Parts: sequence; C-alpha cells; structure tokens
Amino acid sequence: MIEVSHIEKRFGDNVVLKDVSVTLAEGTVTTLVGPSGGGKSTLLRCINLLEVPTAGTIRIGDKSLAFQPGRKVGWDAIQPLRRQTGMVFQNFQLFPHQTALENVMEGLVTVLKWPKEKARAHALELLQKVGMAHKADAWPATLSGGQQQRVAIARALAPSPRVLLCDEPTSALDPELAEEVVEVLSRLAREGTTMIMATHDLRLASRVADQVLFLDGGLIVEHGAPSHIFQAPEQERTKKFIASLN
Ligand code: ADP
Ligand code: MG
Repeated sequence: MIEVSHIEKRFGDNVVLKDVSVTLAEGTVTTLVGPSGGGKSTLLRCINLLEVPTAGTIRIGDKSLAFQPGRKVGWDAIQPLRRQTGMVFQNFQLFPHQTALENVMEGLVTVLKWPKEKARAHALELLQKVGMAHKADAWPATLSGGQQQRVAIARALAPSPRVLLCDEPTSALDPELAEEVVEVLSRLAREGTTMIMATHDLRLASRVADQVLFLDGGLIVEHGAPSHIFQAPEQERTKKFIASLN
C-alpha cells in the first residue's frame, strides 16, 4: 500500500501541488490525467523523491517520511523510500553508452551490489518479459522508441520496486510504437504490478486503470473509476478537459 498524504510542493512562490492525497492499493493501477502544467510530473517526481515535497507525508509499505517547510531531508532518509519505486520517463532516458542488458543490470550492480552474474540473469528475465531479450546486446540508439521504452520499463522493474511510476510513457511514440508499450504495461497491470501513470492516452488510461485522478492547478479536482471520469465526470473542469480530448 502506498499512501501520499497532503503533499505540497512549491518552487519559490509557485505552489505546484497544493494538497494532494492519493492511496494506491497493492496490485492496482492509477492514472493521472489533466491539462499540461497541472502538476502530474511533479507529483510522480515527489513520489519517487526526485523532488522533495515541501509538506505532507509519503508512505510506501512500512517506510514513511514526513516533510515540513524549512526542514531539510537528508539522502539517508530519502534512499530507502526511493528504492521502493521505479520510474519510466517520457523520453526513455536509457544510458546511451550501455547495451540494453547493461541498462537493466546497472542499478542492481551499482546500487544493490548484486554479483554481476546474478544481475545478468535477472536482467535477461526482465528483457524477456518485455519482449526484448533478442536485443539484449543492442545499443539504445539502434532501437526504435517503443523498444527503448520497453527496455526502460525492464530497467525500472529490475530492483523489484513496490510501485512503478510512469510519466507519459507513450507520448513520445508514434501510435504503432505506442501500442507495443501499451501491451507491455497492460500485461504488467494484469499481473498485479502496482502502478501510477500520467498519460494523455485515454485508450491506455481506460484499458489499464482501476482509478483515475484528474489533476488541475495542483489539486485533485475529481477522482473515480475510468467509467466515471471519462464518461460521466461531475466537475465542470473535468467535463471541459475530457471534451477537449474527444
Ligand atoms: P504536468 O506534468 O501536469 O504538465 P508539471 O508537474 O510538469 O505538470 O508542472 C506543473 C507546474 O510546475 C508548471 O507550472 C511548471 O512550470 C512547474 N514546475 C515544474 N518543475 C519545476 C521546477 N523544477 N522549477 C520550477 N517550476 C517547476
Ligand atoms: Mg508532465
């Protein structure tokens, strides 16, 4: 279980997340939708502590951390929580000087100090899972965007995080290549991977989501089942946004 409570994030005077609370039940998929600048990426970056919230609490499993304005949170406190998360970015962000296999092994070897052979075996299994085992020795630049994203998903899953965070995982891809990434994410969802995903792809969102959060102006304006948010939203802002996508 992941619990994000009353998260606030400010950049100077700009309050980007105002008071955001989300509960992610184990084995469920949550999608974040909403206009550009609404705070989706910032929320994901706060959950994996690429950004440190200015207030609120984050609990992942039995590890939790509270944030207060003006109180610095040290790396030692952040690290155990961050290790519970895996992140997939819009632009894949593979290490260009490493093969697909090395990308997936990297965190296991350098952060978790696994022996190389064990890391290699585990990384190969994950590449298999995303349908990329045949490209284990390929350089990222020689792969299509969809293939790079599938390697990035394998890399994010390598340390067995409790939650997979995806920031617009299909936005940089042509529809055809997006589809192969959607396939992989749908399969992970069916297998019970806990996920939270920002996306503009309503097809993806309605295919995988158990709950949908509509985030606008740093607030969760409305949340509910995909059928509720996409077909019968109640709030004016949600209605307008959903209408703008159709
Ligand atoms: P979304 O992903 O929904 O498009 P973001 O979380 O990227 O929204 O951005 C929300 C707001 O936070 C925007 O106004 C953006 O300019 C601001 N913001 C994001 N990151 C930073 C940063 N590092 N410094 C200052 N402002 C930021
Ligand atoms: Mg974003």
